[in-house]
Amino acid sequence: MLWFLPIGTFLRKYEIKLEMAMCGWNVCDVATREKFTSIDWISPSSTLKDTIEWLNKGKTKLIHPPKRSFDVIAFKNKMNLRGWGYTDSRVSLEKNGFFFHGDRYVNVSNNPLPKFKGFCNTMVPGFDDKGVRNVVVDLKPTDEQTRRDESRKSIVQSALYHVQQHADLEANTDYIVRVNGSHGQELTEIHTNIHNSFNNIADMVVFPETRQSVVDLIIAARSHDIILIPFGGGTNGGTNVSRCLEIPDHCMDRVVCVVNMTAYCSVEWIDKTNMMACVQAGATGDDLELELGKYNVMFGHQPDSCEFSTMGGWVSTNASGMKKNRYGNIEDNVISVEWVDGNGNISTNKNYQRTAIGPNSAKMMFGSEGNFGIILSCVISIGNLPEKTDYDSWVFPNMKKGIQFMKDVSETDSWPASLRLMNNEQFRLGQAFKPPASKFKALIDPILKFVLTRVKGFDLMEMAASTVVYEGSKEQIALQKRIISRCAGKYGGMSGGSSSGKDGYNVTFAIAYIRDCLYKYGIMGETIECSVSWRDLNGMLDGVTREFHDMCDKRGITDRFFCYRVSQIYKEGVCVYCTFGLPLDDTKRDIGIFAGIERETRLSILRYGGSLSHHHGIGKLRAEFIHDEFDESEIDVMTSIKSTVDPKNIFANGNGIFAA
Ligand SMILES: Cc1cc2nc3c(=O)[nH]c(=O)nc-3n(C[C@H](O)[C@H](O)[C@H](O)COP(=O)(O)OP(=O)(O)OC[C@H]3O[C@@H](n4cnc5c(N)ncnc54)[C@H](O)[C@@H]3O)c2cc1C
Repeated sequence: MLWFLPIGTFLRKYEIKLEMAMCGWNVCDVATREKFTSIDWISPSSTLKDTIEWLNKGKTKLIHPPKRSFDVIAFKNKMNLRGWGYTDSRVSLEKNGFFFHGDRYVNVSNNPLPKFKGFCNTMVPGFDDKGVRNVVVDLKPTDEQTRRDESRKSIVQSALYHVQQHADLEANTDYIVRVNGSHGQELTEIHTNIHNSFNNIADMVVFPETRQSVVDLIIAARSHDIILIPFGGGTNGGTNVSRCLEIPDHCMDRVVCVVNMTAYCSVEWIDKTNMMACVQAGATGDDLELELGKYNVMFGHQPDSCEFSTMGGWVSTNASGMKKNRYGNIEDNVISVEWVDGNGNISTNKNYQRTAIGPNSAKMMFGSEGNFGIILSCVISIGNLPEKTDYDSWVFPNMKKGIQFMKDVSETDSWPASLRLMNNEQFRLGQAFKPPASKFKALIDPILKFVLTRVKGFDLMEMAASTVVYEGSKEQIALQKRIISRCAGKYGGMSGGSSSGKDGYNVTFAIAYIRDCLYKYGIMGETIECSVSWRDLNGMLDGVTREFHDMCDKRGITDRFFCYRVSQIYKEGVCVYCTFGLPLDDTKRDIGIFAGIERETRLSILRYGGSLSHHHGIGKLRAEFIHDEFDESEIDVMTSIKSTVDPKNIFANGNGIFAA
């Protein structure tokens, strides 16, 4: 039977192929087709349009990676549901000091952290004297929760039925799965989790695997008054973030269903001609890079949470990665967003690299925090894997000199992929978190220290440190290294070598585990990030540090820790992280003191010219300050949009402007 048309490999000239296809030439049989499996084939029933499309497709090198089958529950089993990270990794305080368990993190895992206990003791003397204060309480429904569940039973049963009927989704109602879908990683949320003292827990969690099931679910929710809360990696809230996922009281009048998107996680296609890829919303950062890497391409968006955070979560929170200088912030590299609103309507844009065709709804999804609908997939801009990655580190006599160095680099036109600057306290924290030094390092460390203090005259309690990641071609990296070295030299910088720079970045992924361990001993830590202009930077850092210590003094908190780092540079300013730690006698009783200091520190940042957030979003934590950022007319616009795209308030989780 003659029903296949071979063209392509034999005749490379596009026009000739087209002509032949149009004339219906070289029609061949199945045997021929099987013999030449590497040849592209097309059915003779195709129209001319199909043929042209097919020929163009050949040119665009479109790859369709196989669908990823992802077992969400198995993945969740690997995760610590009572705090941060994987179950196989944790920090504990042993007789001889801290120990980092597991084997996941290069140079840190399965190692003692010999200096860390000493460091904690200088900050909070005798911090472990009282032993473990926050013992993890079993995660099972409290009497109050059981009573609540009982009173909601009939509405929940009815919702379960409709979700199953209309969206063909089997909702999970296990207590632990529900709890896990009802919070992020902000410290007060972890506190609630450890003590099993949640106020509001979702009634069910669904794990859609197809686009259609998400649309059907929304239509069912609309008809049966069910609240939907989109959920990605659940990392928003972490050592800082914004409590986007916390369920407010007003939601509990209705049935609450968490829509965990992590099973919808494939790369749908990769277009290597136009350097784009289409990624489903539930793909985590690490999985996305793994998948793209198979085809020698990459995305490059790398937030510190990239092991768990997802494509949909990044867009929804307007995330920023540590290598943003090379790969951009999330909004720079997402070309289109496909999302479905509260009416069940899908919106998307064509994939042009740029257009000037008016406002579009896809832009609205950046920073939407689950308020408008569910992000299904994104078309992203991809790049080839870098030829080379290299690291570097520099120390400066003090933070002010370090900032001058950063400013100079920002005025050049060739920035390394990542450039960070830590103040002295943050630098010492990082040093204390290091595993034991190799014999060689142990030998040369005192020599380096001698050169640093005696020859260069650095004060170890004043100096600041910068870590650098270079990515790109050898020529680009060589140029960037020259620029960094020139700028650093101007401000008395001394090279700390590439291995220190590399260690600095490796530690980034491990350091989140320490918070949970310290919390057990009553030390509560938090990080607040913001944007600030170059002009306001020094004033803000000095002012906020001073006010933090003053407010602790007023409350009689003598032992405390405060540090900061500049994590991103822009031509116009920087992103700053302020981290603080406080010992609380009774964390359960004193959580309010902690929350009060957190709030006042944020106010202090605003007063000195910092923004409400650079990338963690608003959620519920910062919602009370929203009027500092938006005026009423802007809020009105957003409220009108919300009532159009979600008239029944299905996405009622209330973040940012929409917080109650
Ligand atoms: C240790 C740690 C380090 C971090 N480092 C960084 C960092 O370097 N840079 C940075 O930007 N952030 C960082 N964060 C914050 C957090 O990882 C980001 O906010 C991240 O973008 C959240 O993604 P997620 O998939 O975990 O979303 P989630 O936490 O699950 O959800 C966050 C919000 O997005 C909404 N949402 C999620 N998926 C969808 C979807 N498909 N459609 C619509 N709405 C959705 C949710 O409803 C919620 O409002 C860090 C957090 C932690 C704990």
